[in-house]
Amino acid sequence: MATWRIETPEWEMLVEAAWRAWECAYAPYSRFHVGAALYLENKAIVMGCNVENATYPMTLCAERTALCSAVAQHGLKPGQLVALAIVTEAELLTPPCGACRQALAEFSDDLPILIGNRNERKLFQLDKLLPEAFTARNLRQNHSESS
Ligand SMILES: [Zn+2]
Repeated sequence: MATWRIETPEWEMLVEAAWRAWECAYAPYSRFHVGAALYLENKAIVMGCNVENATYPMTLCAERTALCSAVAQHGLKPGQLVALAIVTEAELLTPPCGACRQALAEFSDDLPILIGNRNERKLFQLDKLLPEAFTARNLRQNHSESS
């Protein structure tokens, strides 16, 4: 499947799914709702939202809840992520945090990521947001050096 560009029509359904997830966000502390939707190689859409906790560090981001759901529901493997949409109502577009960038890099080097709010959208690519990510290939390299 070709990499999604900003004009790829499938973004509409993915952004719509991200807004549906946004409505489900559990964010009683920050009141900062985030919705995410992943498109998988098998054409499934998997949604995620942020889930906060009274012990703040336990909070999970929308991107990682979507990713974990994709693994649990579809047995997601590296190379099977096609696209990600992230939405918030924040005026400033909300990119994935560092932890989510790393988690996503496990499954795709160059994932197209559309970030949007009610007025604006911008397309990024994961390898630009997290250059030189540490991934399984780094572990393989160490194994081959020692054997
Ligand atoms: Zn995050």
